[in-house]
Amino acid sequence: MALIVQKYGGTSVGTIERIQAVAERVIATRDRGNQVVVVVSAMSGETNRLIGLANQIDKKLSTREMDVLVSTGEQVTIALLTMALHAKGADARSYTGAQIKMLTDNIHGKARIKDIECDNMQNDLAAGNIIIVAGFQGVDHDGNITTLGRGGSDTTAVAIAAALKAHECQIYTDVDGVYTTDPRVEPRARKLDRITFEEMLEMASLGSKVLQIRSVEFAGKYNVPLRVLSSFEEGEGIGTLITTEEDEMEQAVISGIAFNRDEAQLTISGVPDQPGIASQILGSITEANIEIDMIVQNVGEDGTTDFTFTVHRNDYPQAIELLENTGKKLGAKKVKGNDSIVKISIVGVGMRSHAGIASSMFAALAREGINILMISTSEIKISVVVDEKYLELGVRTLHSEFGLEQKTA
Ligand code: ASP
Ligand code: MG
Repeated sequence: MALIVQKYGGTSVGTIERIQAVAERVIATRDRGNQVVVVVSAMSGETNRLIGLANQIDKKLSTREMDVLVSTGEQVTIALLTMALHAKGADARSYTGAQIKMLTDNIHGKARIKDIECDNMQNDLAAGNIIIVAGFQGVDHDGNITTLGRGGSDTTAVAIAAALKAHECQIYTDVDGVYTTDPRVEPRARKLDRITFEEMLEMASLGSKVLQIRSVEFAGKYNVPLRVLSSFEEGEGIGTLITTEEDEMEQAVISGIAFNRDEAQLTISGVPDQPGIASQILGSITEANIEIDMIVQNVGEDGTTDFTFTVHRNDYPQAIELLENTGKKLGAKKVKGNDSIVKISIVGVGMRSHAGIASSMFAALAREGINILMISTSEIKISVVVDEKYLELGVRTLHSEFGLEQKTA
């Protein structure tokens, strides 16, 4: 008998009808001979509604009380889903985070899971119950309710799957899997049957928002096979399996094209080429809590050098001001910025064993007349910064360059 953890997001439990449909799917999974633990989110819109209520009282709210408030959304869903299962004749029991002792640290609003007590769940499963657990919430050492950050139910599901050593953790959502790129940009994007944890992390952090990133990290760390599926599809889809790299499988060299529209680029030129300059330039930026993404420094000439980096577009106005101040202090020749750039990345573990990927990428972009402003690479990713007007063209060009489109029969 296999143990399956299923997680259903807000839209999948957004109405009583949908909760009934989830109950059917859960029963079907059980009837195929599995033990099932289900993790649910709040009904769609509910968490935002609760935050909105609180904001009518004050903008500066106690994070402890916020957690007491927002964790109620999930408690509603576990009760309703369990009742729906009972109505269909299934044995089921619901649990809040505190009841399964989902122990977290005490950082309200973004708590991290430390431990889970499995006894209750294991006894219930052995007695033939389906178990329904509230996602997103935990309890700290002193019994305070905590929450795991927006989208945290994914992480709850993975953590429970890891603790119970589940066969698989299935994340049911409103898309049917992870795609080679965003289908709104490239309609020929193809659903991937498999992707590795590492690739998924690169894709997710680059803007393919299917799963809470932390849940993918967690699954990779504890080696929990994660499957993303649609809860709106009839029957038992296969979705996308996120798993470890397997050498016996023939890997595509590139798995996907990710992109990020939210970047801005800043350059300071003609600064002294000597130790300590890089840290001075970036120091004021990081002190302002602005995150820096790519960094490039040129080879020095005439005792001076240039320095370019990217930040989130929202942080651009503040970052350019800080950089102008630093520029004055260092006697820089020029400070300039550009907030109409985007980053496009190719991602694939196959890159490790294939040479020449970067040159194919650059040649394909050149053929379309797309000028590359910055380049950065990691073991399984190559990113370029280009003018934002080239986003669609760039993504589509690379998508076809690496043969990622749907195979039409
Ligand atoms: N209900 C929470 C949120 O909206 C947690 C989740 O859905 O995963 O962020
Ligand atoms: Mg979600």
